[in-house]
Amino acid sequence: MKLPKIRELIEAIKAVIKGPYTSKFPKVMPTLHPNFRGQPKFNDQKCVGCGACREVCPAGAIDYKDIIDGRKVPTRVMIHYTDTCIFCGECEANCLADKEGIKLSTDWELSFFDRSQAQESIDKELQLCEICGATIACRDHLKWIVQRIGELSFSSPTLYLSRLRNLGIIDQNIISALRDHGRSDRVKILCARCRRETTLTAE
Ligand code: SF4
Ligand code: SF4
Repeated sequence: MKLPKIRELIEAIKAVIKGPYTSKFPKVMPTLHPNFRGQPKFNDQKCVGCGACREVCPAGAIDYKDIIDGRKVPTRVMIHYTDTCIFCGECEANCLADKEGIKLSTDWELSFFDRSQAQESIDKELQLCEICGATIACRDHLKWIVQRIGELSFSSPTLYLSRLRNLGIIDQNIISALRDHGRSDRVKILCARCRRETTLTAE
């Protein structure tokens, strides 16, 4: 009979002493490695709805939908598709909100019967142009820009009026009944096109 090699013998003895390497799932949950990467989760308090994570996601697992009608406030729905995600962590690494808007979690139990359940979403309020009603950005994103550039935000009516709205001093998301692009419209929250028209072409 061929004798086992010393190394194999040592491994066999260790295995007998330590017990099985697997856990008795689902009765006993496995212990995760500290570097384990699980499902990314949005943090709706930190995410500003900028969409940068969608741009960097190599698997197309992040998307957003802007819903203007049928809701109390215009909303950007940020969606993460669990079944497409490859848990690479690029979204967290490139998150505009100091890597806090979306973070890898330790959630690994992702089985489901209905594929429509394989997604998670958060809602972010949108800021619309006061003249044409086009989407400008999420309100938290404008707030984030204002905080970053400080007093420079007073050079842009869109930014300083957003600031006043966040303080509750002026009304929310009003779209003007007047479609003229007059010079008086320059002190409004405007999209880039309406800003250009009111600044360059209006009388
Ligand atoms: S972990 Fe990677 S694949 Fe998953 S959502 Fe983030 S960037 Fe996309
Ligand atoms: S703040 Fe971060 S998580 Fe939110 S949309 Fe921007 S990049 Fe994505």
